[in-house]
Amino acid sequence: MLNIVLFGPPGAGKGTQAAKIIEKYQLVHLSTGDILRGELAAKTTLGVEAKKYMDKGELVPDEVVIGMIESKIGQNTGSKGFIFDGFPRTTAQAEALDKMLNKRNIPITVMLSLEVEKDELVKRLLGRGQDSGRSDDQDVSIIENRIKVYNSETAPVKGFYEKQGKLKSIAGMGSIDEIFNRLCEAIDKA
Ligand code: ADP
Repeated sequence: MLNIVLFGPPGAGKGTQAAKIIEKYQLVHLSTGDILRGELAAKTTLGVEAKKYMDKGELVPDEVVIGMIESKIGQNTGSKGFIFDGFPRTTAQAEALDKMLNKRNIPITVMLSLEVEKDELVKRLLGRGQDSGRSDDQDVSIIENRIKVYNSETAPVKGFYEKQGKLKSIAGMGSIDEIFNRLCEAIDKA
């Protein structure tokens, strides 16, 4: 199996690149952000609870997202692999994911970390907010908070995979196809 953690700050282009990667490598896309927005749209108890955090640019509690991912992995065990997008976002989530995957003998192959400068992130997120209407992308202070939370809680997850020799940093500036080619090169070497 090919199991990829696609990593990077909000606005790094994870969703855009994940869509291209799953098409090429036929992987199952697991985006905690997309799953949470689905719950929110369906007004489930989980969605209503998660919205309180998402609207502030805070992280949804670990046990909630870990449970969501575990059930999705269980539903797709026959696949060619998974691409994890927006997860793990804390070291506790990374440890939980390792446990789930080790239990099934399907370890993470590689972490691809998209590196993008902060000014570019804010610009991309505000642009996406206008196009998609996503409320957490329309307010500069919510965006700033998400980047702050990324730096304090999420960036350390890189060290977790670096210690396992699985981290590959990819320049996330340039055209969508240029970045995609860099990612494919890293995947093919992994
Ligand atoms: P982005 O990467 O652009 O911030 P996402 O769609 O990945 O957007 O996530 C949107 C929001 O959903 C986050 O700001 C956070 O509140 C919540 N969220 C998504 N994934 C996780 C996660 N793994 N752990 C905690 N909260 C999460």
